[in-house]
Amino acid sequence: MKYDTVVMGGGLAGLICGIRLTQSGLSCAIVSAGQNALHFSSGSLDLLTHLPDGQVAENPLAMLDALSEQAPAHPYSLLGADKVTQFAHMAQSILQQSGIRLKGSCEENHYRITPLGHKRMTWLSPESVPTVGLHQQMDSGKIAVVGIEGFLDFQPQMVADELQREGLQASAHYVHLPLLDRLRENPSEFRAVNVARWLDRPENMAEIVEEITPLIADSDTIFMPACIGLDSEEPLLELQKRLGKPLYLLPTLPPSLLGIRLHETLLKQFRRQGGILMPGDKVTSVNCVGSRIESIQTRNHGNISLKAKQFVLATGSFFNNGLVAKFDRVYEPLMNLDLCEISERAKWTHKEFFASQPYMAFGVKTDRLLRAKKQGEVIENLYVAGAVLGGFDPLTQGCGAGVSLISALHAANEIVNELDKNKAVQAEVVQ
Ligand SMILES: Cc1cc2nc3c(=O)[nH]c(=O)nc-3n(C[C@H](O)[C@H](O)[C@H](O)COP(=O)(O)OP(=O)(O)OC[C@H]3O[C@@H](n4cnc5c(N)ncnc54)[C@H](O)[C@@H]3O)c2cc1C
Repeated sequence: MKYDTVVMGGGLAGLICGIRLTQSGLSCAIVSAGQNALHFSSGSLDLLTHLPDGQVAENPLAMLDALSEQAPAHPYSLLGADKVTQFAHMAQSILQQSGIRLKGSCEENHYRITPLGHKRMTWLSPESVPTVGLHQQMDSGKIAVVGIEGFLDFQPQMVADELQREGLQASAHYVHLPLLDRLRENPSEFRAVNVARWLDRPENMAEIVEEITPLIADSDTIFMPACIGLDSEEPLLELQKRLGKPLYLLPTLPPSLLGIRLHETLLKQFRRQGGILMPGDKVTSVNCVGSRIESIQTRNHGNISLKAKQFVLATGSFFNNGLVAKFDRVYEPLMNLDLCEISERAKWTHKEFFASQPYMAFGVKTDRLLRAKKQGEVIENLYVAGAVLGGFDPLTQGCGAGVSLISALHAANEIVNELDKNKAVQAEVVQ
């Protein structure tokens, strides 16, 4: 099987790369082993919220030069401010074209409200999530925070208390929905995604409206856990219309409905554009000839190789086995690629829990074009994208999704340019 590009890993980075490649008319296959970080995420996408020295990045793009000085191995520093700016704008357009309704801009971060009612800075948030601009006060009037009886992954009282501490008027409520009684019998099944499967059914809408209405009579705005609108936002918009008040969703503990919806929407866009997804398959070996990859093999395809002109490694970090940590060793399991400097074992972690943990920045080392290196030599047709890259801390620097989107779009752009160049050379030879 032969493609222009094979992408290893189908998380945020792999999918966005595949969407850009297929949009440009290239054939692309994504091999994806399993769930990805989006299934566990807030659904909001971070670009850059803090520099390594703790400085707050209200305007992420304006902080890129300072970031380069403090973190020269950060993927943004390797690419340079101009490319990061170009690809941040491109990411916004592609997400929008894919049918994802997000608010926010790379010019200025905003705050989203967390499941605990705190404010957390971010770049893009789903339209349905409550947000507030920097230096602004939320203008929501009286907020009713409505939890679902028996659903332990969301505590309305904690959210309401925190909102009150912020000077807002908020009250906590629980809605009892008899239609969920069957689900309630098994507490381990009472999770956001399973709840949504019931709440999303049109025949249940009248009962949901009837039960919530008396709780919100005195309120102007409603906050609920993100348990409605799994496949599309339609059920949420319908409920909002029937309740007659703005209704916002707060992320819950994983599995995250907001992250899953984002993933599914990107997947649909990739397939709509002719992309081939191989879900549940796993890259098992990579065959190199000289400084280039010729083909890869996967668990499900056995001896049948997948060949391509270009490859992208987007297998994620420790969370999804893109990197593996043993007691005294960290490695990239597919090709044993070079990694950014790994400190001695005792320095992998910092004893202060909330400090930047050194192991978070472990990852694959690349050249400035984000091509992987092995034993110091660049692999010419292997770009690295997303969380498997080294040199950044997604948690304390608030840049996880941004690195995935920007490195993936950079890889796609390089591939498109390179294949265009090759086509032009071939055309000249033919003439
Ligand atoms: C729990 C968690 C929550 C997060 N929440 C947020 C958030 O709210 N906002 C934010 O901005 N960032 C968040 N992040 C940061 C996150 O890393 C990025 O946002 C981004 O989603 C990572 O995408 P990725 O595609 O690089 O990697 P991943 O999402 O990890 O995807 C990698 C994919 O590669 C597959 N894979 C691995 N090995 C192979 C193989 N050999 N063959 C085939 N496939 C393979 C995996 O199964 C997986 O599907 C979070 C990270 C984690 C771990």
